[in-house]
This record gives sequence, C-alpha cells and structure tokens, in this order.
Amino acid sequence: MKLVDLFDHFLIDLDGVVYVGDKPTVGAEETLKALRQFGKRLIFLTNDPRGSSRDYSEKLKKMNIQAGPDDVITSGMAIAHYIKEHYQLNQKKAYVVGSPALKEEIEQIGIKLSQGEDGRKADFVIVGGHSEFHYEELKYATLAIRNGAHFFATNRDPVFPAPEGLVPGTGAILASIEVASGKKAITAGKPEPIMFEVAKKVLSSQERTAIIGDRLDTDIVGGKRVGIKTILVLSGSTKQDEIPKSEIKPDYVINDLRDLLKEQAPITKPQVSNKSETPNSKP
Ligand SMILES: [Mg+2]
Repeated sequence: MKLVDLFDHFLIDLDGVVYVGDKPTVGAEETLKALRQFGKRLIFLTNDPRGSSRDYSEKLKKMNIQAGPDDVITSGMAIAHYIKEHYQLNQKKAYVVGSPALKEEIEQIGIKLSQGEDGRKADFVIVGGHSEFHYEELKYATLAIRNGAHFFATNRDPVFPAPEGLVPGTGAILASIEVASGKKAITAGKPEPIMFEVAKKVLSSQERTAIIGDRLDTDIVGGKRVGIKTILVLSGSTKQDEIPKSEIKPDYVINDLRDLLKEQAPITKPQVSNKSETPNSKP
C-alpha cells in the first residue's frame, strides 16, 4: 500500500515541504506532478502573509510546479475571507499593518484602507508581518483598537527562517500591538481553523483529505483540530528525534514527499494512543 492511495485531497504546506527558501525540496517537482496525474486535488497553504496567492503560484511555477492562484491559500486571504463572512463592511475602514499584498487582499473584500494618522479611527485593524514595520503603525493600530476597532492578524508564527537565521515574524509584531492595546487578535493561519475552513470550501468534500506539513505545532495541530489526517514531513523544521518528545502525534511521518509514492513506504505510524498497549491488555 502506498500512502498516496489513502487520500484524494492533499492540503500541502509550502515552506519546509515544497521548498526551503527558494530551493525546492528533494522530489517535490516529480512527486507533485505524479499526484496530479493520479487525479489528486492539491491545495497549497502558507502562513506567510507577505505575498499574494498569485505571487506563490509564480514562485512554484519557477520550480516547475504547476499551481494556479486558486490552488494557493495564504493566511492573508484566509483572514480577509473570515472578515467578509462575519462583518458588515459597508462604509467601514481598515488599518492594515502589513505588506502591499495583504492590503490588496483586504481592499478586495470591499473595505477602504485608512492611511497614517487616519488609522486610529479605523473600524478594523489587520496585522501581518512585514519588513517595514514602524512605531507609527504600532501607535495607530493601538489607538484604533483602544477606540473599539475589531482586531485581526494573519498568523502568530513568532519567527520564520531566513538566510541569516530565524527572524521576527508576524507573531513578534502582533505581540507588541497586543501588549499596547490590551486586546488579543483573532488569527487565521495554521493551527487556527479559519485557514482550514477556507480550504474545505474549495474542496468538494472533506473525506479522504490529509494535510502534509513540516511543523507539529501548526500544520499537525491544525489538521487534528479540523479532523483530517496528518502527515509530518521531515524536510523542513522538525527533526525525527523531536517526534517522540512531543505530545503532538501525526498520523504518518515521511522523510520527504517522495515517500508518498513508495510501495514499501517507510510509513511510520507514531503511537496514536497507548490505551490498549499496556502489558495486561486483552489480546
Ligand atoms: Mg512549513
């Protein structure tokens, strides 16, 4: 039995699974091509709010991986979707602390953006990590939230990998705004269910769906929360020896994406439960 045969739909994390930085992971190109040939539906997920789904689609194409913008869900897209579904947006304004891609995502749902000092009068504050973060943004976001604005963020990842090492991510910026405003944001990225809910809407059914991710605390926890199967891949931020130490147990562990297609796959099934594994358990 191959692991691929157990599923029709795959939610696939990008960073650490399909690529690391600008380099595709081992076997990503040929494995993803094979999955498509088998008729599997692939949805790519990323917590990184700095790019749009079109940007990630272009990045994948440069690696010879075919994925249209509709096949990519970003945390920015997910929070925009959530706000659109849950709030009345007519005549409302948003102050976005984030990348141009996140600002565009928010504008597309029909909210006008507040700029600079006007930000303090905004009805919504939406935060996503970006490299131009400034004290003024912290100040106006704080004033708006203290003035009653609804408060959201794309994700809570404290850091992300860069060539220099782990550098501050959305979570670090968000923490400063949460401390100053005294309020906690609603976030969309993994492991929160919002991003998975958006993905489920794209899929015809939730049956035979698995998430493939490289982080236990986001991809695997998120998948478990929404009741889909979880596959941890060791090509990114989690190393084999961390699995036994963690409380979070993925359904399957693979070394890299190629293992999905192997007949005698090194499918490791970490103990899901040890209730029946006591020495006195019944045969
Ligand atoms: Mg990842």
